[in-house]
Formats: sequence, structure tokens, C-alpha cells
Amino acid sequence: MEIKSALVNGTGEDYEIETVKLSEIQDDEIRVKMVASGICHSDEVARTGELPHPLPAILGHEGAGIVEEVGSYVKNIKAGDQVVLSYKYCGHCNHCLTGKPASCNSFASLNLDGKRSEGTYYFEKPDGTKINSYMHSAFSTYSIVKQENVTVVDDDVDLRLVGPLGCGFMTGAGTVFNGLKPEAGSTIAVFGTGAVGMAALMAGKIAGCTKVIGIDIHDDRLELARELGATHVINSKTQDIEEEVNQLTGNQGINYIVDTTGVVPVIKTAISLLAKEGVIAPIAVQKGDLELNVLTELSVSNRSIIGVLMGNTIPQLTIKQLVELHRANRFPFDKLIEFYKFEDINQASQDSASGKTVKPVLIIDEEYKPKAAQA
Ligand SMILES: [Zn+2]
Ligand SMILES: [Zn+2]
Repeated sequence: MEIKSALVNGTGEDYEIETVKLSEIQDDEIRVKMVASGICHSDEVARTGELPHPLPAILGHEGAGIVEEVGSYVKNIKAGDQVVLSYKYCGHCNHCLTGKPASCNSFASLNLDGKRSEGTYYFEKPDGTKINSYMHSAFSTYSIVKQENVTVVDDDVDLRLVGPLGCGFMTGAGTVFNGLKPEAGSTIAVFGTGAVGMAALMAGKIAGCTKVIGIDIHDDRLELARELGATHVINSKTQDIEEEVNQLTGNQGINYIVDTTGVVPVIKTAISLLAKEGVIAPIAVQKGDLELNVLTELSVSNRSIIGVLMGNTIPQLTIKQLVELHRANRFPFDKLIEFYKFEDINQASQDSASGKTVKPVLIIDEEYKPKAAQA
């Protein structure tokens, strides 16, 4: 069938909305009519080539939509279901079987190969040029996914909001819930208050941290962080961060830190501010390598640095959990979202990169109305 997709044809080029041919679904596949998609930093690094990906490609991996057709092997998902899309995993490797699909042995090939494992493509141009997919290629009016990509959500959920639960917000919250696992009463700090950082802050509050510290260089962001649950904020440009942290923690340091900046000197500073037994999870695309004296900076204080991919989440559980927390007004991620028209994807992408918008969401199906609004 013919669909419209936003393509990146060459490294660093703008998105072009083009007419594209979508393949038929296979027995284990699901065709989704996309309602909306968030724009994530990992789309931007694929567009610019910072994270090389074969082109032309259809990016986008924070999609939400409605199931239109399912293959005969697909169970428990049917046409008409409202779905949030996330990453793909194999379901049968040792990590998947122990409930850690973010560590799936086939994560890279399943999500980033740009085509099906047997070599066929989901999308092609009218002239037959093959188009690479990227994660679930959400910058498109339709996409084809597998059961593992899909989380079915209730009919009253507004699909225009929930796409970013499949990557950015899930990553931020999951890093806290599954990676750091802070004890109630502990102190958590988040460096960088973008979409992922804000989700981590909200999760720190939900987890029972009594000091939730947002750190950034923009006062407007810090104000928003306070609104979302930060108990303290520090502008590291205008305030002495070490002094502030010492004062806040009685010279004990911070128990848990999430770094979402990826800036090496910032990560160095963050490590130096950890309490004894403190743990830091740096989760951004990092610019340059980190040099560290593991004895003096880690071992003597029993500190650790941990890697956490996609918040170490099981999307089908975490997305529903976040939807419920949102319903209970404890995870107000909608305050971070700004809607853009699909055709304004280049503007949205620029506003995401510049930080003007915390979480841009493209409305791909303008006709969509949430069930609650239809009543
Ligand atoms: Zn992402
Ligand atoms: Zn697996």
C-alpha cells in the first residue's frame, strides 16, 4: 500500500515527506496506523550520522497508533487495539528468558539492521529503492512491527501523548526503578533536565527519595523540574555545585545520580559528588571518553558506575505502569510535550536539538480523537 513517510536520504539532510510503498505483513507481523510519534535524541544522532545508520531511512521510535491488521501467528493483539510501540527483542535468548529484554542478545540486529532478519525491507520508494527502517520507523503514516514491539493500552488513553513512553520517558524512569533502585529516604540527583532527566526526577520522587535534585544550566528548565517534583534545583552555571550539594547532604554526598548530559567533565563532577556506596548511571550519548582513577574515585568510597540500556525495562510492563502513574497524577509527563504537525518535522527536530521544546510530538493522524473526547 502507499503511505507517507518522513525520509532522511543523506547524512545530515533535512527530513523529506515522501510517498512510499509499505510491504505486506508477514504471519508474525502487525500493521499499525500511526497516530503520533515523539522525537528522541537517538533520531537526531541517526540523522546527523553521529550514530551511523544506513540511508535512506525512516527514523522515529516513539510511536503510538492503532492496529490495522495482524498476521495469523499474532496472539492477543487485534485490529482496532490502541498501542504504544517500543524496542524489539527476541524473546528466547538467556536475557529475554530471565526478564531482561533490554539486554537481548539480538537487540542491535533486531532494532538497527534496517530490514527484516531474512533480508527483505518494510519500505521502498516508488522507483524500487529500498528504504531502511530504524527501530519501529514511527515517522510514517503506517509501520510494520512485531508482537514484541507492542504494548496495548486502554481505549481511553490519549495516543497523542503516550508515544514517548516507549523510549525517552521509559528510559528515564526505568533507570531509576530498575537500575539505581533507590531506597525510600535516599537522595537522588539528575544532571540534565531534558525529557529523560525529567522522567528520572519524577521516578525518584515516586520511589520515595526525599531529596530529589535537578541540575541544569537553564533556569526555565529548573523551574519546570520543581513543578514536576524536584525538591531542590541547582543551576551549575551560576551556583557552586559542590557547595550546594555539601549543604544539601550535610557533606555526605548524593546516593544516586542519573547523568543525561553525556558531557565528560559533568560526569566527572557528578562522580565526585557521590556519597560512599553511591551509584551513578550515565545514560546519554557521550561526547568523548571518560578518564577515571578507579581506585581513588570509585573503590575507596565503594562507589559504582552502572550501564543501563532503555531503563532495563520490559516495555509491556513499564509502559502500562507509567500510564497508570500518569492517571494518578504522579507522572505528569504531558507537561513536557508540545505537539507539531507531521509536515513540521524539521522544525520539531530543531526545537528538540536546541532544547526549545523538551519533548516534541508529531501528530501524524490529525483525524484521531481520543475515545474520552468522542463521548
Ligand atoms: Zn529514543
Ligand atoms: Zn533476546
